[in-house]
Amino acid sequence: MSDCVFCKIVARQIPATVVHEDADTLAFMDIGQVNPGHVLVACKAHVENIFGLSEAQAAAVFRATAKVARAVRAAFDPPGLSVYQANGKPAGQTVFHFHLHVLPRHDGDGMQLAWPVKNPPREQLEANAARIRAQLH
Ligand code: AMP
Ligand code: ZN
Repeated sequence: MSDCVFCKIVARQIPATVVHEDADTLAFMDIGQVNPGHVLVACKAHVENIFGLSEAQAAAVFRATAKVARAVRAAFDPPGLSVYQANGKPAGQTVFHFHLHVLPRHDGDGMQLAWPVKNPPREQLEANAARIRAQLH
């Protein structure tokens, strides 16, 4: 897509600091660096979010993510590492070209994601699971 920043990075039209590349994915340093070693793994094709990934692209991006995560751990030895991925503005997505964050984590690093649990009754879990199962194919 002509006005997509990550498509421009994939096409080498704007600079990026690349750490890994294969046929379907490109991994490069996040320009914001929430912590040192913060890498983005993007699919090369312009796919807006997780809902547009083909089976092959989904496999490729997570294979690359696991590989990059192992390399980041070996290089920086962080005590923790988060894999973060957002779909849509309410989820926090700001670049609408599919990517995952590989983010080294440290105690007190300021990274925040509220987790407001509701702990619903089992019947609610069962009912919601049935709705999801009915859509799987
Ligand atoms: P998200 O909120 O998951 O869509 O994250 C988008 C990420 O892309 C942010 O963490 C930005 O710092 C990063 N980003 C935006 N533009 C660039 C760029 N030109 N090169 C590298 N990272 C970028
Ligand atoms: Zn794109």
